[in-house]
Amino acid sequence: AEMREDRIKKTKTVCTYCGVGCSFEVWTKGRDILKVEPTPESPANQISTCVKGKFGWDFVNSGERLTKPLVREGNEFREASWEEAYELIAKNFKETIEKRGPERLAFITSSKCTNEESYLMQKLARAVVGTNNVDNCSRYCQSPATMGLWRTVGYGGDSGSITDIGSAELIIGIGTNTAEAHPVIATRVKSAQKVRGSKILVSDIRKHELAERADMFIRPNPASDLVWLNAVTKYIIDNDWHDKEFIAKHVNNFDELVKGLEKYTIDYAVQHTGLTKEEIIKVANMIHEAKSTVVMWAMGITQQRGGSDASTAISNLLLATGNYMKPGAGAYPLRGHNNVQGASDMGSMPTHLPGYQKIDDKEALAKFSKAWGRELNPEKGQNNHQMVDAMHDGELDILYLKGEDMGIVDSNVNYVRAGFEKLKFMVVQDIFFSKTAEYADVVLPAAPSFEKTGTFSNTERRIQRLYQVMEPLEGSKPDWIIIQEIANLLGANWNYTHPSQIMDEIAALTPIYSGVNYERLDGFKSLQWPVHEDGTDSPLLFTDGFPFDDKKARFAPVDWTEPTEYPAEYDIHVNNGRLLEHFHEGNMTYKVEGLVLETPGAFLEVSHELAAERGLEDGTLVRLQSPYGRVDVKTVVTDRVYGKEVYLPMNDSGDAAINLLSSSIADKDTSTPAYKETKAKLIILDKGGKS
Ligand code: SF4
Repeated sequence: AEMREDRIKKTKTVCTYCGVGCSFEVWTKGRDILKVEPTPESPANQISTCVKGKFGWDFVNSGERLTKPLVREGNEFREASWEEAYELIAKNFKETIEKRGPERLAFITSSKCTNEESYLMQKLARAVVGTNNVDNCSRYCQSPATMGLWRTVGYGGDSGSITDIGSAELIIGIGTNTAEAHPVIATRVKSAQKVRGSKILVSDIRKHELAERADMFIRPNPASDLVWLNAVTKYIIDNDWHDKEFIAKHVNNFDELVKGLEKYTIDYAVQHTGLTKEEIIKVANMIHEAKSTVVMWAMGITQQRGGSDASTAISNLLLATGNYMKPGAGAYPLRGHNNVQGASDMGSMPTHLPGYQKIDDKEALAKFSKAWGRELNPEKGQNNHQMVDAMHDGELDILYLKGEDMGIVDSNVNYVRAGFEKLKFMVVQDIFFSKTAEYADVVLPAAPSFEKTGTFSNTERRIQRLYQVMEPLEGSKPDWIIIQEIANLLGANWNYTHPSQIMDEIAALTPIYSGVNYERLDGFKSLQWPVHEDGTDSPLLFTDGFPFDDKKARFAPVDWTEPTEYPAEYDIHVNNGRLLEHFHEGNMTYKVEGLVLETPGAFLEVSHELAAERGLEDGTLVRLQSPYGRVDVKTVVTDRVYGKEVYLPMNDSGDAAINLLSSSIADKDTSTPAYKETKAKLIILDKGGKS
């Protein structure tokens, strides 16, 4: 008879490579992955996927997977049993909590992990240890977008569904390399242009693929977006093109907005953005003429010192033109990781409990205190940027970090790594021995998404289930089990036997998830939050108003923060972002042979102008030197970049990590690193020529 492991098994899962949240069936035989097949019922993607979702999974069987806990001995690591690793963790955690206080511990969850796991991580920090020092990687990317939306419309989420992006008359993309970072959304945008005649307007400092396709492409100076956004809003109001009826009914603070926009004349914008008068007026005209407009944005906006303010300016513009509360309109911050939205929804943030209930909201805190059986700490915790400073200041002793390669992805990593060295004890939980793991005292082997059950929430607030495709690789464990075991070692009494029980607890405590349960998410079913108790969900986020007491949104006037000044010798602006074939720091995708063959590592895009000035060719080995570190990399001459702009992909198989160059300067409102304000000097190491 046919053995069970010889049969082909088909399991529904959700992609972990970006916030689009494509779902598909994985065909396996034992641990062999035969193919990935999306189905027409896949709610976010139907039958589409991109190269990562289709071919990016061999890493689960990589020989480099961690299968035993590791314990530091001097400068080396040795294998240890789970018991020994746990004992060390329990001893260090307990000692520090008792002698130094819970504020000496900090926790970072992963936006690649499930909602249930992020929920447990913050519950461990708050209910077991007693600190609000908990954060996730949206601090590195999308916190400013969330802040801009909180200020104006109350919810930090996409206004509608991915299908709404495709049904807008005008699709604006600002600082988003959509075709490489969110490929399936880019496909929808391109087909809207082709089939429905939607117009595409792209603003970016780099002429990426979507910019090539755009009906209009503008290239403002780095970190000057707020200026043209405000100028366009002012021009629209000055011409009496704003949506007076919508504003009167649904938005407060119009007079304050008008006053705040006074200085943003076209002349001022021309002076500071480098755009022409005609370009700015044309943008205003395009928005005025379109019946519906969506704005998609990503790291090009958020990773600036004024990232929250620029995000706010986008929302002001949408409110002024009545582009909320209807299909095919609104704000679409494109979430990077598969579960960036979910990790924040689950309250793994130092200022908010699950469902964005504020830590200083007494009623909410009392509700959680009662449910979790402990008086919770009402003091805001540290975000991950502040944690690094606290390490340097000797104010943090223990860091427990899961699935986040902070030693590569945080900005100014030389500073971050020096911070790790100052910790008393550090636990890293991951599927591979990451750069960050090198600094750990205990490394715990976790399981990737294919080996566990749970839910993810994608960029359109869509909650979807993933089913276990295969058993955890022998020796590794799903993160939710590890967190529960650690919590119980510290005196908790958690008895979750299935992630669905964790979701039931989340639903009971989190109004925007109140109607969520596993049954309602069966198979390819999904729900977009807010989900009401009866199970009805919200494909359109704003239907009868905004989540403020008077149901009205608010204009929030914002001012420009000029980009960081560097000494004149650092004359090259280093932009950075994704590659289609690789995800983030590359820990997973650089272990997939097919993807490495396509794109073996990072390269530096330089402009024809810079190439002519410095004598660069394809394959010239150059050194980028910033005040914080250096990177050696080969050049590619291209017209994607212009002048003294260069582009370094953030993922690399070796040491060409952008964050050796970036600074610790951050968005003033959320501490999100200003990665996009990085400057360096360029030194030629080897002419080399074509490689
Ligand atoms: Fe879909 Fe994004 Fe995965 Fe590509 S990486 S398959 S677009 S979820």
